[in-house]
Amino acid sequence: MGKRGSEEQGVLGSVAPMDEINSIRNKSVGLAKGSEKMEKRRLGKSDLWVAPLGFGGIPIQRVSQTDADGLLRLAVEKGINFIDTARGYTDSEEKIGVGLKGIRQEVILATKSMARNGVAMAEDVERSLRNFQTDWIDLYQLHNVRTDEEWAELTSPGGGLEALEKARDAGKIRYIGITGHLPETLSRFIKDYSFVSVQFPYNYIEQENRQELLAEITRQGLGTIIMKPLAGGALRQVGPALRFLLQKSFSVVIPGMDTIEQIEENSAQLSQTFTEQDAKVLELEKGELGQEFCRRCEYCLPCTEGINIPGLFLLEGYYNRYNLKQWSLDRYLGTAIKADACTECGVCETRCPYQLSIREKLKQVHALLS
Ligand code: SF4
Ligand code: SF4
Repeated sequence: MGKRGSEEQGVLGSVAPMDEINSIRNKSVGLAKGSEKMEKRRLGKSDLWVAPLGFGGIPIQRVSQTDADGLLRLAVEKGINFIDTARGYTDSEEKIGVGLKGIRQEVILATKSMARNGVAMAEDVERSLRNFQTDWIDLYQLHNVRTDEEWAELTSPGGGLEALEKARDAGKIRYIGITGHLPETLSRFIKDYSFVSVQFPYNYIEQENRQELLAEITRQGLGTIIMKPLAGGALRQVGPALRFLLQKSFSVVIPGMDTIEQIEENSAQLSQTFTEQDAKVLELEKGELGQEFCRRCEYCLPCTEGINIPGLFLLEGYYNRYNLKQWSLDRYLGTAIKADACTECGVCETRCPYQLSIREKLKQVHALLS
């Protein structure tokens, strides 16, 4: 274990026993400055109590460490106590680890790994612990499980789940969860294994095909972690979109936040109610967007030709929906690898969890912006 991690738990090179961890955690809960400000919801059947607004760790990749420190401390001050990231989000875990120095025990830390076999999963757990500079991670999740093949590898002897169970038995992680973008497959996987929580996209414009998943979650009493509350930035009306989700009984909603203003704006929604006017505003957005829009999850990358696929779709969105026409045209002109570099190899489409016709859409982008 890293030296700085040992400052929190006291024993260099060892893992604190669970009762010691619990005792530290239980003591610290009362110390969290903002903890009285937000109600807490139980994450499934765990003993983790989370504020309904959490901190999504993707955008923190884009800011400096100094800015990340400030954002994390403000979030904790506001009462946000659930921080979620992933091994795959470049330096997000490291930034969070540095930013939470001295206040680690005030938050519930969650991360996830794309590893599917046991060796790679065990390595990822160790790497996450080092990055976070901590001796325990509260929730470790299987990241974006999509196919039956992946599930077979995860659940086989020596697979990823066995490695997570060993890590849990050793006190390195506390609970195991799953994340995914496809409700149909997620509902099947959670029937086969006893997870504590499920993380999936849900927002005003993406509610379809989730009945079975939600029914299974309810049947098992699983925790619910809601990603993409703004549909990957497609929803412009942040207040109504968040109020819509916060009035529901999900455990925690995790918008990504990389500015002080976003933290202020998002946390302000907790004291407001979802109104009929909010519903009207969101219905308008829903009508504008349809279903074929990019959520900027970046799973399609890397493109074999180096095209920044979500970046180009974003420019299209700025042109069509944000009334930034000239700005979008100028940006596209200055883009080194344009949409017409696509050779139509199709690799990106096999990775897109939303089954977007990326090749076709890139042609449209080029016609619009060139
Ligand atoms: S189909 Fe086009 S955009 Fe997709 S990976 Fe291939 S070259 Fe890149
Ligand atoms: S094209 Fe698909 S995979 Fe790529 S960022 Fe958009 S939604 Fe995600």
